[in-house]
Amino acid sequence: MSFLCKIIKHNWSYSERKINIHSPLGDGQAHITFTYRLCNRCYKKQVQLLDTAGWQNTELNADELREMKLKKLGL
Ligand SMILES: [Zn+2]
Repeated sequence: MSFLCKIIKHNWSYSERKINIHSPLGDGQAHITFTYRLCNRCYKKQVQLLDTAGWQNTELNADELREMKLKKLGL
């Protein structure tokens, strides 16, 4: 983990992703919106829990992994 992340805090950038789900109500279309945050320094990624508003660690997707590797190489 980055030194700055340890002594200060993570440099979060937030994003949202809509996931379509099948619903037995209405026209059968519904979605859940997940909020993600990704640290621009150490690439820690978390997703917000829907029920408690707490945060849980989650995996980076392929694009984010590539970005992290490039950043570590200094590109
Ligand atoms: Zn961080």
